[in-house]
Amino acid sequence: MCLIGTGPDDIRAQTSIATGSNPAATLGRIESLLNDWQAQYGTVHALGIASFGPIDLSRRSPTYGFITSTVKPGWSHTDIVGRLTRGRVARVGFNTDVNGAALAEKRWGAARGLEDFAYITVGTGVGVGLVVGGRTVFGCNHTELGHMRVVRAPGDQWPGVCVFHGDCVEGLASGPAIAARAGVPANEAPSGGPVWDLAAHALAQLLHSVVLATAPQRIFIGGGVIEARPGLMLQLRRRLRDSLNGYLEIEELGAGIDRYIVAPGLGSLAGPLGALALAADA
Ligand code: ZN
Repeated sequence: MCLIGTGPDDIRAQTSIATGSNPAATLGRIESLLNDWQAQYGTVHALGIASFGPIDLSRRSPTYGFITSTVKPGWSHTDIVGRLTRGRVARVGFNTDVNGAALAEKRWGAARGLEDFAYITVGTGVGVGLVVGGRTVFGCNHTELGHMRVVRAPGDQWPGVCVFHGDCVEGLASGPAIAARAGVPANEAPSGGPVWDLAAHALAQLLHSVVLATAPQRIFIGGGVIEARPGLMLQLRRRLRDSLNGYLEIEELGAGIDRYIVAPGLGSLAGPLGALALAADA
């Protein structure tokens, strides 16, 4: 999705371009769209790029601005920032799609006023945007908590679907993982079956680790899989409390847990608005 504007109340135009498996062709279409918009709306001052990953965010790296070892066919080792900024003077904000979405929630959505929170999306993958001290966590590169390993449910030896790790959280609890286990698309998998319990088992451990790692003020969790099963949110709250087992005596994990593990505010707009948030920050 490409859009031009300054925020959710000021989107001048938007166009959807399929990712496809030919980066040169897709980036060429985005480039000509940017040229058209520049002719129509005037100079573009900042470019926000919220990309699927992993991506290289280290400015000292020779491959800064690249998509690196992605599972998307054809897109590994593709220069995104270099290609889209060629011949332009715009400032650039480049980050992962989920980090962009987290920053959009902070700027315009349910995370307004929070400096420390986690934004988790469970859909075709499992992504975690971790905001600490008002910024997305960045060390030698961005974090990828959706790929952390978890303790398997007793007796479960299903190998998982992540092509890199098999049974990481994404490999066990993403939409494709649920679909592979159930034999039908995730939104058609029958409620109450073991497939959902096993997904919740992995996701609750992700929540457990996020709480212990950065003690976020709130955790937002959404995406297609969560939206398809409202009961999953209740189950995750319960499982998180059981998992922490009273170790942290804080209100958020006690009476306040219904206000602690909550849905995000921007819905499907969080992704596209993430790019605008990155441009605004730039
Ligand atoms: Zn993985």
